[in-house]
Order: sequence, then structure tokens, then C-alpha cells
Amino acid sequence: MRKVSVVQGDGIGPEVIGATMAVLRSMDLPIEFIEADMGLECHSRTGEYIPESSIETIRSSDCCLFGAITSPSSSMPGYRSPILFLRREFDLYANIRPVRRPSPDLGLVDLDLTIVRENTEGMYTGIEREENGVVTLERKVTEKACRRLVRYAIDLCQRNSIDTLTCVHKSNVLRRSDGLFRKVFFEEMEGRDIVARELLVDAAAAAMVTRPREQKCYVTLNLYGDILSDEAAALIGGLGFAPSGSYGESFALFEPTHGSAPDIAGMGIANPTATLLSAVMMLEYLDLKNDASRLKKAVYLTLNEGVRTSDAGGAFRTGDYCHEIILNLDKKDSC
Ligand code: ATP
Repeated sequence: MRKVSVVQGDGIGPEVIGATMAVLRSMDLPIEFIEADMGLECHSRTGEYIPESSIETIRSSDCCLFGAITSPSSSMPGYRSPILFLRREFDLYANIRPVRRPSPDLGLVDLDLTIVRENTEGMYTGIEREENGVVTLERKVTEKACRRLVRYAIDLCQRNSIDTLTCVHKSNVLRRSDGLFRKVFFEEMEGRDIVARELLVDAAAAAMVTRPREQKCYVTLNLYGDILSDEAAALIGGLGFAPSGSYGESFALFEPTHGSAPDIAGMGIANPTATLLSAVMMLEYLDLKNDASRLKKAVYLTLNEGVRTSDAGGAFRTGDYCHEIILNLDKKDSC
């Protein structure tokens, strides 16, 4: 029996997780699900953003399925971001964001791209200093982090028969930091039977629009990966379709790329596809390959039947959409 910790979080987090759990529970999986409480709502109930008992629950599990947490817009005393905490605590260095157009009539371009994003350093170390009206940001890039990320990306390409890996950087300007990342990339790609390409980050942003079919797998630094994956999600139909997984040596966390969307929270209209596809990644991680494939097929079959939530032009509410997916779990004829 595998153990999965589940964090519902804030905003639409409980809705997309609730819907995903309804589908997972209908699948009779060899998984025990255990709840862990974190975030703003948790703070208003318990006085803590990241309770120690929740950290223990997550530590006792094989991996975590995570909804979304609202980041306070202004600084709140004592606030700690649960997701940043978990990435650090479990050293979840590789953030994988597969972006695939879910159906030919959704989105603007035919993209099937996997973004492998560095998750522990770069621009998001958050080390900022302010002195005499000058704010300085420390941007850390280490050879160790670059090498393990590139190796992860190569392994991912090999496992998924992806023949081209593109290094996305800005080393024409950031010669030392991005230059180090680029150097490590070409060293690691030496002698591999995967085509090594490179793109400046601005060119990559354009290439996803102008030459989408050529873009297969990007390996890139933290900030670039964050921005490019939101662009990619917009191109294939919106944030509601973009899953993600963050992987370390012995733990992984799966969550939709989108945030807590407070504007639609509680309305029952959130699109749970990104969370369902994150659950597909989770089942693959747990080595439940047949279950992963069964769920993935049911999601794509349902979308191809025209069953959609309102963000994708449909009229299905979150719960009804998931009900259709449950009905499709055992249909054979799916993409
Ligand atoms: P946060 O501060 O938690 O990041 P946010 O609203 O700033 O929240 P997102 O949650 O990433 O950022 O989403 C931006 C907008 O996209 C939302 O306001 C919402 O309208 C839409 N959106 C995001 N996710 C979904 C979803 N799963 N279903 C439907 N609409 C969504």
C-alpha cells in the first residue's frame, strides 16, 4: 500500500483536490490518502501556516498531492510559504511541467512540450537587500544544481522517447551564471543519442508560438521556466490544463501549475484538469503505470467529447465534469 499526503490549501485548492480525489477514490487504487493542513485558511483556523503535525504527515508519505495556496499580497508577519518550504525541505530540485494541447479545438497552437525547470536556486532564492534606495538581488547558480537538473532532463527524455533536448538560457547577457548552466548542459549532452539544442529565453518564448511542433523538451533555470510554462499553458487552453511535478532524490510533490484563483473560489466552476493530470504524474511516480494510463485516457477522452468547464468554453461544473471522467474510466476507445 502506498501512502499519499494531500494538501487542499486555499481558494480553489479544496475544489480541484476534492474533484480529483473523487476520481481517484473511484479507481480502487492501492493508496492510503492522508490529509495535511497548510496555508492561509489553516492559519485562520490554527494560527499556523505550516503546522509541525502536517510536516510529519507529509514526511510519513511516499509523495504529496497539493492543491493551491493563496500568497498574501502584502507582507504578513510570520508568513511562510508552504510550497517554498516543502520544495526546500524535501530538496525538490526538478520541477517538471508537461504542456500538451488537450484537444485540437482548445488553445492556439499544437504544443506538446515538457519544461524541466530548476526549482531550488536562481532568481527565486529570494535573497534581496535594500540599502540607500538600492535593492540588490542575489541570483545563485551552482554547478551542482545545474548538473543534477540536466541529468534529470536527459533521463526524462530517455524514459519518454523524446529525441531533442533544448537548453534555454540568456548567456549572451548573463555570461557567468547562465554561461555555467549552458556549459554544464553541453558537457552532459556529450555522447548522448539525444539532439542537443539551445535557445535564448526570449527566442524560446517566440518559438513556442511560431514553431510549436519543434519544441519538445526545455531544460531551464527557475524564473525562465516559471514564465515559459505559464505562456505555454496559455497557448494550449489555459492554466486549468497545466499539471506539474517537483522531484527530489526520495520524495515528490504534484500540483497544478495554477494558483488558488480566489476570484472563482467557492463557485464550483474551477477546472480540475491540471490537478487530475498532476495525479497522473503521481501514479506514474508510484509505479502504478496502468492506473496512470487509465486516468490519462479518461481525461483526454472526456475533453475530446466536448465536456468542458467554463474556462474552456463549456458549461460543466467541477463535480459534473469529474463525474463524466469517472464514467469514461473504463471506456476502451480513447486517445
Ligand atoms: P495566486 O495568488 O494563488 O497565484 P492568482 O489568481 O493570482 O492566484 P492563478 O490562480 O494562477 O493566479 O490564476 C489566474 C487566473 O486564472 C485566475 O484568476 C482564474 O480566473 C484563472 N484560473 C486559474 N486556474 C484556474 C482553474 N483551475 N480553473 C479555472 N480558472 C482558473
